[in-house]
Amino acid sequence: MQKIILATRNTGKIEEIRSILKGLPFDVASVLDHPGLADVVEDGLSLEENALKKAREIYQATGITALSDDTGLEVFSLDLRPGVLSARYAGEHVSYADNNRKLLSELVGFEPTRRKARFRCIAALVGPETEIMTSGNCHGMIIDAPRGEGGFGYDPLFVPDGYKETFAELPSEVKNEISHRAKAFREMRKVLSRLHF
Ligand code: IMP
Repeated sequence: MQKIILATRNTGKIEEIRSILKGLPFDVASVLDHPGLADVVEDGLSLEENALKKAREIYQATGITALSDDTGLEVFSLDLRPGVLSARYAGEHVSYADNNRKLLSELVGFEPTRRKARFRCIAALVGPETEIMTSGNCHGMIIDAPRGEGGFGYDPLFVPDGYKETFAELPSEVKNEISHRAKAFREMRKVLSRLHF
């Protein structure tokens, strides 16, 4: 069976992506199955650049067709910040809670109409003679205090359009159905089902 390697160490993402790609004729490994691979430095200026960089480096290091993703939270009234800086909005080596506090501090006093945001996910596939990207968005708004224990990152602050609960309060099956990542990887599933490498 042909093999794909997921260029992420996030076990939540690995499970989510594996379940979306289920049924395709690929053996889906991850970098966790290949100890010793160096971490990819995510210093690109855009989500697209970072997603491609991760997939290219893992493909070059392993020779296996690699699949990556890069996601950012884009708040419209903040000129799409934190965007590509989502993981280190409050600084290097900070916690999710630090980033959430920084985001809330930027939005103090903002009315609901100025709290609209979207998660944007770019998935990238890199293999022999193949470089393909797909994307997925999930629109919603940022509330003024964290709610919920599930998910990760900005989930406790993000209420997706059409729901009252945050991503951290909704069951993971709901998030995995409507999320930016689910949409980007469902598109990637269509690409993979047509591709022979
Ligand atoms: P990554 O590089 O794609 O893992 O994402 C960068 C940052 O975006 C993470 O550190 C999280 O803070 C945030 N992020 C990515 N995906 C999600 C999500 O599904 N929910 C909440 N935050 C996310």
